[in-house]
Amino acid sequence: MSEAKKLDRIQELEHRNFRDDEFWKKVPGWSSVTREEFGDHKWQLKNSIRKIEQVQKVLGELCTPELMSDLEAGQHRTPMNIRITPYIFALIDWKNPWDDPLRKQFLPLGSQFLDDHPYYQADSLGEDTDSPVPMLTHRYPDKVLFLPTTICPVYCSYCTRSRIIGGSTETVEKGTYGANQKKWDDVFEYLKSTPLVEDVVISGGDSYMLTPAQLKYIGENLLKIPHIRRIRYATKGIAIFPQKVLSDYEWFNALNEVHEFARGYGKQVVVHTHFSSPNEITKWSQLAMERLFKSGIIVRNQAVLQDGVNNDVETMVKLTRQLGYLNIQPYYVYMHDMVPGCEHFRTSLREGIELEKAVRGTTAGFNTPTFVCDLPGGGGKRHVASYEYYDEENGISVWKAPYVKPGEFFTYFDPIHKLSPEAQKRWADEGTREKMIQEAIKKVSDH
Ligand SMILES: *Cc1c(COP(=O)(O)O)cnc(C)c1O
Ligand code: SF4
Repeated sequence: MSEAKKLDRIQELEHRNFRDDEFWKKVPGWSSVTREEFGDHKWQLKNSIRKIEQVQKVLGELCTPELMSDLEAGQHRTPMNIRITPYIFALIDWKNPWDDPLRKQFLPLGSQFLDDHPYYQADSLGEDTDSPVPMLTHRYPDKVLFLPTTICPVYCSYCTRSRIIGGSTETVEKGTYGANQKKWDDVFEYLKSTPLVEDVVISGGDSYMLTPAQLKYIGENLLKIPHIRRIRYATKGIAIFPQKVLSDYEWFNALNEVHEFARGYGKQVVVHTHFSSPNEITKWSQLAMERLFKSGIIVRNQAVLQDGVNNDVETMVKLTRQLGYLNIQPYYVYMHDMVPGCEHFRTSLREGIELEKAVRGTTAGFNTPTFVCDLPGGGGKRHVASYEYYDEENGISVWKAPYVKPGEFFTYFDPIHKLSPEAQKRWADEGTREKMIQEAIKKVSDH
């Protein structure tokens, strides 16, 4: 074997190394926190960062005045509240927070924001339009999206539901809601009378924020409906707060009980989680996954493609392999939705297609994520390479969704700042951009 090849082989095993150091001790405010304290879910919740003043407090001298004023400026722009578990906060490289993929996801800086795309929408996926009862989106025939709560253990700056998730910010007024049994009962009633539905995604918000009793109430009420065959609890928790799986026995037992209850009926309960960066994965993740796997609970992952976080081949391959190694099935990688305050996170469709090509072939097919674009306007999820037409020069792709919305055309737009200077000029003029889009749609509709 040549030296280069040997090196290659070593790198191929790198994904099996899970850091187990006491990384939180590098944060000055937590230098004397023991492993036991850090592993306690109550300690994690109590010490979560919810204000930028707390960032300064725990970081001490690591928080430069320059960083602090950029964080303050970020608060004037961001659609999301700040909420970060100590686990994630301590995994940020505070020697260079500017480039850190975890800092980028959870702690917005004023300097990073770009103008929103002219066709952004607060509810880009049209979830409210396809909603027959509050808290429920019914777009596809046999599966529905249920949002029983709008709170999460961390808030992602790039959240696709920034219109409702977490508290209001300086730029967005929100109708945030917590648990509401009456409204949930209305959802169950709707589902009882809609026999086509077999599959319920319980998202939000985050299932980690449901109490054990709520988790069971929702799960068992759904599973009792004869035609419901599968439910999935969506939580980012395993990625950003694995200590809960390991130390909140009541919550974990509730999940197990719903899983057992479902198996008795010959039905499925799975967990969908949300790792976007390999930097979120440590020995804690491995231990949490061992516990879930030994209980027979299947976990799948949905990642969001983000500029400077995971849009390079090495990172995406590592993330995919690590998830597979942990018994988490990489399910989707999403093109970033066209929601407010996220232009700096978005990538071109071309980048998504190229990453799909690079990742496919690196590991087992069933552990290879499908790269999808969830079409603005409610066309649903489509494979990134299944567009009808793509004007790459102007960053305009045209799509169809034959089953979900027959006869309609959908468009997705690349971020303008990544286009050529000439194309950026065309986009700057309202008449020209309208015309470019109509021309692109005409290319498809004329066929
Ligand atoms: C994503 C989504 C689902 C679930 O889709 P899968 O492709 O099965 O994961 C269901 N309903 C809505 C509205 C969705 O956005
Ligand atoms: S965990 Fe999900 S719902 Fe919550 S803020 Fe992040 S992306 Fe939004």
